[in-house]
Amino acid sequence: MKAPTDFSPREIEARAHAHWSAIDAYRVREDQSKPKYYACSMLPYPSGKLHMGHVRNYTINDMLARQLRMQGYNVLMPMGWDAFGLPAENAALKGKVPPAQWTYSNIAVMKGQMQAMGLAIDWSREVATCDPSYYKWNQWLFLKMLEAGIAERRTQIVNWDPVDQTVLANEQVIDGKGWRSGAPVEKREIPGYYLNIVKYADELLSAVADPADPNYLSGWPERVRLMQENWIGKSVGVRFAFPHSIQGADGQLIQDGKLFVFTTRADTIMGVTFCAVAPEHPLAAHAAAGNPKLAAFIEECKAGGTTEAELATQEKKGEPTGLFVTHPLTGAQVEVWIGNYVLMSYGDGAVMGVPAHDERDFAFANKYGLPIKQVIDVAGQAYDDKTWQEWYADKQSGRCIESGVLNGLGFAEAVSKVAELVGAQGLGEKKTTFRLRDWGISRQRYWGTPIPIIHCADCGPVPVPEKDLPVVLPEDCIPDGSGNPLKTRADFLHVDCPKCGKPAQRETDTMDTFVDSSWYFMRYCDPKNSEQMVAGGTDYWMPMDQYIGGIEHAILHLLYARFWTKVMRDLKLVKVSEPFKKLLTQGMVLNHIYSRKGEKGGIEYFWPHEVENVQGEDGRVIGAKLKSDGSMVEYNGIGTMSKSKNNGVDPQALIDQYGADTARLFVMFASPPEQTLEWNDAGVEGAHRFLKRVWNFGQKQAEVLQAAGADFSALSKDAKALRREVHLVLKQISHDYERLQYNTVVSGAMKLLNALEGFKPSAPADAAALREGASVLLRALYPACPHLTHVMWEELGFAAELGDLLDAPWPKVDEAALVQDEIELMLQIGGKLRGSIKVPAGADKAAIEAAALATEEYAKFSNGAAPKKVVIVPGRLVNLVL
Ligand SMILES: [Zn+2]
Repeated sequence: MKAPTDFSPREIEARAHAHWSAIDAYRVREDQSKPKYYACSMLPYPSGKLHMGHVRNYTINDMLARQLRMQGYNVLMPMGWDAFGLPAENAALKGKVPPAQWTYSNIAVMKGQMQAMGLAIDWSREVATCDPSYYKWNQWLFLKMLEAGIAERRTQIVNWDPVDQTVLANEQVIDGKGWRSGAPVEKREIPGYYLNIVKYADELLSAVADPADPNYLSGWPERVRLMQENWIGKSVGVRFAFPHSIQGADGQLIQDGKLFVFTTRADTIMGVTFCAVAPEHPLAAHAAAGNPKLAAFIEECKAGGTTEAELATQEKKGEPTGLFVTHPLTGAQVEVWIGNYVLMSYGDGAVMGVPAHDERDFAFANKYGLPIKQVIDVAGQAYDDKTWQEWYADKQSGRCIESGVLNGLGFAEAVSKVAELVGAQGLGEKKTTFRLRDWGISRQRYWGTPIPIIHCADCGPVPVPEKDLPVVLPEDCIPDGSGNPLKTRADFLHVDCPKCGKPAQRETDTMDTFVDSSWYFMRYCDPKNSEQMVAGGTDYWMPMDQYIGGIEHAILHLLYARFWTKVMRDLKLVKVSEPFKKLLTQGMVLNHIYSRKGEKGGIEYFWPHEVENVQGEDGRVIGAKLKSDGSMVEYNGIGTMSKSKNNGVDPQALIDQYGADTARLFVMFASPPEQTLEWNDAGVEGAHRFLKRVWNFGQKQAEVLQAAGADFSALSKDAKALRREVHLVLKQISHDYERLQYNTVVSGAMKLLNALEGFKPSAPADAAALREGASVLLRALYPACPHLTHVMWEELGFAAELGDLLDAPWPKVDEAALVQDEIELMLQIGGKLRGSIKVPAGADKAAIEAAALATEEYAKFSNGAAPKKVVIVPGRLVNLVL
């Protein structure tokens, strides 16, 4: 008899890895004979090391991939690196190493960690977005978009981050500050390239908002669909002009004498008492020309934020211009104000002011003493121009009053009537607008995809000819903080004009890194193709069946990837319209935070393992003590794991101490994939103990299991009960795998182990039930803990019978095993509970009654009387009424 071996994750994992590597276990090919399944995690930024959020994300993906492979699917689980971007430049600045070197060494570390985790990744498809063989296709598609008019060079006012020295997209500005630097954002006007995503707005919207759309994304979380819908922000209204005769310095009418505005509330047009224009509007500039006060106000506005969110929260300020425009329907003169809340980049950079029926205008008018004119009435309500009430803006039940030809009309009729009236004068029409802006992709950064343009003094900006792609980024630059190093790189900069042949200069702007992540998942499908951006692999694998990533990417990344896919479709490169059929947004990993103010005023953070909690009378944690010296520190509750708060858990340390299977098991068991996960050291210990029990069970029962047959015809009662339990749990686990509820999969595996450990075979034939149960347990647990289960599967002889666990068939629920031989019914006699009886599962009423009457309890409590009545509640109780 072989001596039992202790549970050694290190040896087990080494053995499993050697096996998978020897057979190239995760390489997949486009196999038309099998159903395909493409499961992918959002690609990580190679920042240095994996964090627990990565571990969680990839383990979810891995469980999905492994379990579906057992079900016969041809599963693709690729991985890559979102390798361009600012952090590499910042690291280069600090460490004086080129971003390329920093990036590639981080990739090597993180790849090693992923391999240690035992992820079923097909590494032959690895993509790094900073590789010229990848970004060549960013450049190529950009040129195609230029040809198709989807990309354009424009001059626009942009958000300028003075610290990072770069342009930021609106969505990269948070509360008026740069999303990475935190510096207050300024506005600047520079040339750059824009992608016309607004042209696709209706299609992008329909697939998230209209269930009747054939591409409707029903497999996405509702909250993400809603976030996309709000971001696209479609509004239907009327665009019309207030005519005027204001002439510029050149004697020409400014904007042809028409101040255009857009409104979704044209029904309130008779309530207009002012107009407001953005600080950058031509009328504002005109008014400020001879007015230092106005000019100063405009400067002040430029320092403010540029997003709608910021405009919504900042104090509304304005200045009158002294200029007047004419109301298109009443002919009244309306004064033009400059408002810090009006966005030049939204619509025409001007709005009509209807203080009576718009909350923002109401506050503005009250602040500056502008007239408020009620033109909408709701029956039974009284208007008060000092206090805003919700009904003032009610579109549904309002009727026009004091509005001439509009009187008595409801919202929709009034809007149509206004559109008709302004239309008749050639001053406007109904219009649909979007909150979504075109995508400015030019970044004044080094570490990104070079924009393939050459600037010639004679020919202007000239696209790089396709045959000269890729424009390769020099990899040895070290940014020194003084701007884009490409601007001083002579060997990069100087090039002959492709059109006229004269000396010219390369564009030094690089592409927004959101470009890189907009299509990498398609490149995984054809990773090595040097002739085409995408090809047959993409036709086979796309659309992706399941995408997994953080909610922080719910808007931009997903929107850009959807847009990019539609562009590729229109350029006949792919057949799909939507890239991601299903989306899972995994919850964050949280841990406790402990801190105190340091002597110098800064905040010092402590690791959870350095402190002991102090509880108040009600058991809540009110603080903590440092283990080292007993001094008190504050407990700041639970928050996202972060380096700066000393509450991160290093996955590598966890793997070194407990093994990858424990790390994987804990993150899967601790909470459902979409919810937040609170770190808990005791939970990690518990996961480890469970795996040790599984191992020890295998060691103890090895000989019985190896010798057992598969004949279930002569099982004892206990063995039948075991089979019933195993198949009941299997049924639940199979269901939980389908809905990605991996935490309950793990608890199911725990139930299985309990049942197997508690089973005492009473006959040699019963070993068959034990063996079957063990094979179900190993297969149920394998997607979460592939190392341990792989080794046990081989050692206990299952591999010889059912093949490698990688492709072992997913166990089928035996419905016959679920049928109970005997059921237990509660026994009531004379209205009181007197115990229970066991009857065959299929027993009829007469048999149940007979069994009840034959009990000792009946003899004892009936005093020999026959029951007046027998009530049977099937499956529950039998009641003998005396
Ligand atoms: Zn030229």
